[in-house]
Amino acid sequence: MIAVAIDGPAGAGKSTIARKAASELGYIYVDTGAIYRAVGLACTQKKIDPSDSEKVVEMLPETEISIVFFNGEQHVLLDDKDVSSEIRTEKASMTASKVSAIPEVRKFLLDLQRNFAKNDNVVMDGRDIGTVVLPNAQVKIFLTASPETRAKRRVLQLKEKGETADYNTVLADIIQRDYDDSHREIAPLKAADSAVMVDTSELTLEQSIAKIISIIKEHIE
Ligand code: C5P
Repeated sequence: MIAVAIDGPAGAGKSTIARKAASELGYIYVDTGAIYRAVGLACTQKKIDPSDSEKVVEMLPETEISIVFFNGEQHVLLDDKDVSSEIRTEKASMTASKVSAIPEVRKFLLDLQRNFAKNDNVVMDGRDIGTVVLPNAQVKIFLTASPETRAKRRVLQLKEKGETADYNTVLADIIQRDYDDSHREIAPLKAADSAVMVDTSELTLEQSIAKIISIIKEHIE
């Protein structure tokens, strides 16, 4: 099996790029952020403070999270309900970031992620795929872009969805989330030693996709 690990901060274009690369290569694309978002959503639904690790950990045994594929597209189920759209809000991003700092949450989600790479060729994106989830991945890529570029892209994305978005608020959220993700004690956001670094600040989406596909092909051919 071939595994491609793509890690990097929020808004670097990971999911769009990883999805396209996977489809071109005929691999499964797994977006691991979605399952952290589902744990965050579970807290919101059950009125649990996502920073209260004791309460969050208590909730885990009664929380069922799974990933299923419909027509090749990933869907996330929380207690058997498809929450794929609900987890895409700014609030859900911040909540996901909080619960992802809890070691038991990371452990709870580990096998779910690893199992995908056992039976299929995968492109998996997240924060700790190359370092923790799939340390033996044949290809590791660390995708990044400046916080300003990422905030601009996010504002555009939200506007396209018809949501109002304030650039400064989005930028502040990105900087906060980067800080939280890279300073947590467990599985902090950092490039694996053997990761190829790619900065997409000056690249168009098409250029970024072409670059990632060429890096993957170089490693597996
Ligand atoms: O990738 P996405 O923005 O959807 O991830 C939401 C949050 O989940 C991130 O800010 C990060 O805190 C957390 N996450 C993580 N490890 C992963 C994927 C996501 O900690 N592998």
